[in-house]
Amino acid sequence: MTTLIAEAQARTANAETLSAKFREHMAEHGLEVDGTDADYRVAFPGGVASFRLQAGAIALRIEAINAERLAEAQGVVAGHLDGFAAGESLGIVWTGDGVTATGALPHNFRVTRVKRVMDVTPHMRRLTLTGEDLGRFDAEAMHVKIFIPAPGGDGREPVWPHVSASGQPVLDGCSLTRRTYTIRRIDVAAKEMDIDFVLHGDASPGSRFAMHARPGDWLGISGPGGGDVPLRGWTLIGGDETALPVIARALEAMPQDARGQVLIEVAVAAEEQPLSPPPGMALRWLHRNGTAPGVLLLEAIRNLNWPAGEEASAWVACEGATAVALREHFAQVVGLPRSHFRAVAYWRQGLAEGAGKAEAA
Ligand SMILES: Cc1cc2nc3c(=O)[nH]c(=O)nc-3n(C[C@H](O)[C@H](O)[C@H](O)COP(=O)(O)OP(=O)(O)OC[C@H]3O[C@@H](n4cnc5c(N)ncnc54)[C@H](O)[C@@H]3O)c2cc1C
Repeated sequence: MTTLIAEAQARTANAETLSAKFREHMAEHGLEVDGTDADYRVAFPGGVASFRLQAGAIALRIEAINAERLAEAQGVVAGHLDGFAAGESLGIVWTGDGVTATGALPHNFRVTRVKRVMDVTPHMRRLTLTGEDLGRFDAEAMHVKIFIPAPGGDGREPVWPHVSASGQPVLDGCSLTRRTYTIRRIDVAAKEMDIDFVLHGDASPGSRFAMHARPGDWLGISGPGGGDVPLRGWTLIGGDETALPVIARALEAMPQDARGQVLIEVAVAAEEQPLSPPPGMALRWLHRNGTAPGVLLLEAIRNLNWPAGEEASAWVACEGATAVALREHFAQVVGLPRSHFRAVAYWRQGLAEGAGKAEAA
């Protein structure tokens, strides 16, 4: 097997402190760390990074099984060291046989164009995107960051994020807005993927992009990430329109003997979509008909009959305040162990994505 190598120096007046912080942080995140503070290795997926203290610097060396793994580890190492350096410029410049050239597209980034536009329901628009080399998105992880060009472009290809000398993606000079969406369907051989957009108004970049999308429009995509729906015993799956793409994929992938409840809150009956859950997963649609987002979902979950004396789990994605209330409900009222539930904010009332805390699962 070939091994690709990247080497760099992080120049710092605080090499010992910085190195110790990084080492501790990696161990806290469950990565295997081996060696002393002055000379240690961290095992990454598909590679290993070594750190050696020198006078006024930390010598960095990464070995990885392919260019993607190398690039991922370079970004993690440089990103964390920069973060811990609190403003000190470390001057990390990677060299080596597999290092992505400065100025290239990030390894996890693909350029796509809109191929088809279709309305799934009155307020859910499906964009079929086409692009080269989409294989990395055909994964269990189903979420992506989309990079939306500024409206009113002249059709020319936008300036996309590029890799800096320290191996991190840079957005300087790009007029792009980043948002989080779910891949509803992917067909790598046909070079296409579908993303379903909730149309919630013309003033928000994600919704606006979908409302005005035409074949040929540019869209950058990076990822994938997150996307696990835990299945432990009897399962509650719930959410609003933004969670529908995940829920649809989760139901398609479920074993036929899965048991539980699916609760989906949508604006009105016309927003329901055909879904085929396994026979033991009871599906119930909740229609807001003007009530505030999350109210009906929270109420239905609070009134749910959980099976007695059986292992149970829950996954719900919805508006932020409802997600907070649900986390409390699952932990304190239902008594689910922390490992058995997720209640995730997919959007926050009155806040654009990134204006509050982002959640990536
Ligand atoms: C992991 C993950 C996966 C997601 N997958 C999808 C997906 O596949 N499809 C999808 O449509 N969304 C999805 N979302 C939700 C989406 O990222 C947010 O709705 C995002 O805010 C949309 O960006 P925007 O530019 O349209 O609005 P923003 O600029 O982020 O927000 C502007 C305003 O719009 C409001 N707003 C945002 N979303 C909604 C909404 N759904 N209904 C009403 N008001 C809203 C905000 O409160 C804010 O006031 C996902 C989110 C996460 C975290």
